[in-house]
Amino acid sequence: MRLILANPRGFCAGVRMAIDVVDQVLDVFDGQTVYVYHEIVHNRHVVSRFKDRGVVFVEDVDEVPAGGVVVFSAHGVSPQVRARAAARGLWAIDATCQLVTKVHSEAVRYARQGYQILLVGHRNHQEVVGTSGEAPDAIQVVESPEDIASLRIDDPERLVYLTQTTLSTDDAGVIIDALKRAFPAIKAPPSEDICYATTNRQHAVRELAPLADLVLVVGSANSSNSVRLTEIAANVGTPARLLDDVSALDDAWFGDGVETVLLTAGASAPEDLVAGISRALVERYGATIHLGDVTEEAVEFGLPGNLKRVMRDRGIDPESRRIRVQAPVIREAEYGANAVALTISARGGEGKLPRGA
Ligand code: SF4
Repeated sequence: MRLILANPRGFCAGVRMAIDVVDQVLDVFDGQTVYVYHEIVHNRHVVSRFKDRGVVFVEDVDEVPAGGVVVFSAHGVSPQVRARAAARGLWAIDATCQLVTKVHSEAVRYARQGYQILLVGHRNHQEVVGTSGEAPDAIQVVESPEDIASLRIDDPERLVYLTQTTLSTDDAGVIIDALKRAFPAIKAPPSEDICYATTNRQHAVRELAPLADLVLVVGSANSSNSVRLTEIAANVGTPARLLDDVSALDDAWFGDGVETVLLTAGASAPEDLVAGISRALVERYGATIHLGDVTEEAVEFGLPGNLKRVMRDRGIDPESRRIRVQAPVIREAEYGANAVALTISARGGEGKLPRGA
């Protein structure tokens, strides 16, 4: 078996920052219960590792005792949640990804200018709930082209669309094209709302999946960007499986004809889970590991200002805690074997590995 590790994969800058926030809060408020509003990121392992360290996850800020410490998750919250936390005297630390905050700001600005906003995304996703809360009277959510017929439009000349940050670029394109056909004057956001991490991980799968017989995506079922990676693989004709960790690997997936496997991970999936799956494939199937480097990333987000102030007050230099972004180093001890560069073209040019070769 040939195992290609997609790069980039796994943690994005927003997820790193959000996890780092909870780490630092646990350290700074040692001995105090730390509450997190909603799953800090959509990954079962990340959440259960924090639960093991005493973090309490809540779905309503009223569950946090008055005066307690609460962290808002990477997906962002509505102004109503912020106001409720303030009214209860909670010490709130905002781990919202700044690329989600950007979409919130666009929603507020367009609503003030009198635009109706069509928010392309998944209605019940935490991010869409938070963004919609910024301008509930101006925003309508569009999940599919079929939703367009039931939209209530006052003035088709004063319309703008925004998108959830973690959509499939393929699916979003279909919906946006349908919106443009229905409302030719609709404005686009000033810059792309689907974030760099979502775009890069999807692009890597789009480039590499045609070389593989099977794509494995490490991520949880409620992780939007992880599920989207399985859809992108299917769109280019390669079947894909979403799995939380190595315990979900099923030998039945690796029957006849599965000789090349592409392994990637959603933006909220820790790299040690990828390594565990790689190790299993090396041990069970004698896989050789190949680096599928498509795009380099070096994006970093800083900690929230109020957390940095508390850290300084307690003699901790936030800079000293900074996490540097780097592509994971593949070591035999963790991944089961050392890696070699992928020697075939990821773009399907000359030298492309034929299916099953
Ligand atoms: Fe931010 Fe994108 Fe990561 Fe979401 S997936 S946390 S929007 S960088």
